[in-house]
Amino acid sequence: MEKKIERNELDELGEFGLIDRISKNFTNNQTSTILGIGDDAAILSIKDNIVVTTDILTEGIHFDLSYFPLKHLGYKAVVVNMSDIAAMNAIPSQITVSLAISNRFSLQAVDEFYEGVKSACSAYNVDLVGGDTSSSAAGVFISITAIGSVSKKNVVKRSGAKDKDILCVTGDLGGAYIGLQVLEREKQVFLANPDMQPKMDDKEYVVGRQLKPEARMDIIHELRDLKVIPTSMIDISDGLASELMHLSKHSKLGLRVFEEQLPIDNQTYETAVEFNLDPITCALNGGEDYELLFTIKQADFEKLKKHADIHFIGHMDKSDDGPGLVTKGGSWIALEAQGWNHFKK
Ligand code: ADP
Ligand code: MG
Repeated sequence: MEKKIERNELDELGEFGLIDRISKNFTNNQTSTILGIGDDAAILSIKDNIVVTTDILTEGIHFDLSYFPLKHLGYKAVVVNMSDIAAMNAIPSQITVSLAISNRFSLQAVDEFYEGVKSACSAYNVDLVGGDTSSSAAGVFISITAIGSVSKKNVVKRSGAKDKDILCVTGDLGGAYIGLQVLEREKQVFLANPDMQPKMDDKEYVVGRQLKPEARMDIIHELRDLKVIPTSMIDISDGLASELMHLSKHSKLGLRVFEEQLPIDNQTYETAVEFNLDPITCALNGGEDYELLFTIKQADFEKLKKHADIHFIGHMDKSDDGPGLVTKGGSWIALEAQGWNHFKK
């Protein structure tokens, strides 16, 4: 028997109906939220330094809806902002979500997107306090603003690294990029033959890295518990090489990273090889891992050295060499502004 899938059009509800439908699924849990959705603006009462960040996600540029489930998209759209708040060593508390969608989307599709947003709001303990809703002639645009706070003594910027500070990376790198390659491949297979089932059973980890990343707020809380304040920090959204360049430039210091210390998951490694890609290049230049790159004083090493998910990849260096990579063979490769390409032609 054929199952009927319910579909309601957006214009059945109109803009205000849609906003009501969205807001009734959300509750405010933060004491700093004085007034949430429903008035001309939200009101917050935050005592520390306020941290604000915005990201825009554009269909066809940042995501492809043919393999990106809307619920995951809602979740990820929040996560990328949580990651930026984390990178300031701050704690997030509110978000606003602005959405432009064409009427090819049903009400159920919008519900699905907000289910993802809601689940991220619970996971990261933030309130949805506002946004804007518009129609679009073509494509989906999502803009999220996140608000958080950090006391003056805990603020961490890109610019604080000093000579000999240790470079640390959380988690593992390159997975999200490899996951994207798998999804693109299966899309092409499907377009060529819609009866083919996608072969992704053994690619769960990398596909998950692309579709359902997490921001490393867990690490921020652990660093606080251990009383470690990084000297500089940045989140890895564009690839490690590019973020290293930022740290180096803002801290006005060179740095050296050791190829053999780069954390790469087995599935990432094997799938990269399967795609004829160099795993090291993927770890350096693949984007969207949303891990943290930070520096610590040598004196703090003892407190972190046994941490299972923090890897020590190199150190800041005041010599004139600039930022670079020491390969397994011991040679020096200068990192380039556009990132570094292992097999550059
Ligand atoms: P205005 O015309 O003053 O911009 P809107 O009608 O756009 O007001 O919004 C009314 C309320 O609903 C505001 O609190 C706004 O922040 C909130 N809002 C609008 N769109 C969204 C959305 N997509 N998600 C969450 N809140 C929204
Ligand atoms: Mg508005």
